[in-house]
Amino acid sequence: MPTITRNLVTGGAGFVGSHLVDRLMEAGEEVLCLDNYFTGRKANIARWFGYPSFELIRHDVTEPIRLEVDRIWHLACPASPVHYQHNPIKTAKTSFLGTYNMLGLARRVGARLLLASTSEVYGDPEVHPQPESYRGNVNTHGIRACYDEGKRVAETLCFDYQRMHGTEIRIARIFNTYGPRMLPDDGRVVSNFIVQALRGEPLTLYGDGSQTRSFCYVDDLVEGLIRLMAGDHPGPINLGNPGEFTIRQLAEMVKARISPALPLVEQPLPQDDPLQRQPVIDLARQQLGWEPRIPLEQGLEATIADFRSRLDP
Ligand code: NAD
Ligand code: UDP
Repeated sequence: MPTITRNLVTGGAGFVGSHLVDRLMEAGEEVLCLDNYFTGRKANIARWFGYPSFELIRHDVTEPIRLEVDRIWHLACPASPVHYQHNPIKTAKTSFLGTYNMLGLARRVGARLLLASTSEVYGDPEVHPQPESYRGNVNTHGIRACYDEGKRVAETLCFDYQRMHGTEIRIARIFNTYGPRMLPDDGRVVSNFIVQALRGEPLTLYGDGSQTRSFCYVDDLVEGLIRLMAGDHPGPINLGNPGEFTIRQLAEMVKARISPALPLVEQPLPQDDPLQRQPVIDLARQQLGWEPRIPLEQGLEATIADFRSRLDP
């Protein structure tokens, strides 16, 4: 009889986590979804309630937990600046203690752990585009540091567990990801623009909108995470879409699809907001045979349709 992989997905009720849960469940694997519901919602995983291979655990990763699993997908951490800055000390605790607890679990049961790290480890980058070898430019005491430094020390912990205890680790540096199930009020740029446009409100450009981001559709990202976990390379490996857009271009694209006459309004640029961001994905191409397939235009259509159905049921 083939053995079924037991997966623990921390942050599994969140945006990326719930799409990952879908993929694992559809592949016939066992899933323990763990979440404290800070930014996650039961509705995201409700379709799996009642399946014997699915379990939901309400738990905060800053506390230890004993479970028997084979794979740990460690995603628990708020990802939007509005949410991670809400209680920055808790965010740092979630990254440090949460990763420490999950690595302790991985070590005890011999599980492989994948950490959802971030392009934010590059800070406001002076090297463009960003390869994994770039060591970054993070302001250690700015308002984004709780998240950026939290993820940096989480990466450090992973490598020290690997060196000291032989724990199997995989580190994904995820670039801006968007898609269905983003929270309407999470303050991220794709969700803000779509929600504003659907409500007939002006689109809020922070600064003059000349800063850039590279947006990856969530299905592409999840495919990358699955290949990274299955492969041999510990990472860190960038997972993102190299298509780079200014925030003003993004606003124009959203507007054009929903309500072309809407105005754009400029608001102050938040402190330490990175001016540019674009992944080099050569390592992901070589090691994982992965690259994104869904262009921004197509991903936006699916995301807009999802928001339409939720805002205007
Ligand atoms: P999200 O906020 O939708 O999901 C995070 C999930 O973690 C939520 O369900 C939340 O309730 C849960 N959580 C938060 N703190 C917790 C704690 N202490 N204990 C247990 N659960 C907790 O965010 P997301 O966009 O799905 O991001 C998922 C992961 O991917 C995060 O680790 C994030 O840092 C990383 N990431 C995301 C992006 C992106 O653009 N979406 C980019 C880079 C990295
Ligand atoms: N942004 C914006 N208007 C908004 C929300 C965000 O212009 O309503 C900008 C923000 O200043 C940043 C970019 O969009 O330059 C991406 O912001 P987001 O919070 O989505 O991601 P992050 O800054 O963490 O990459």
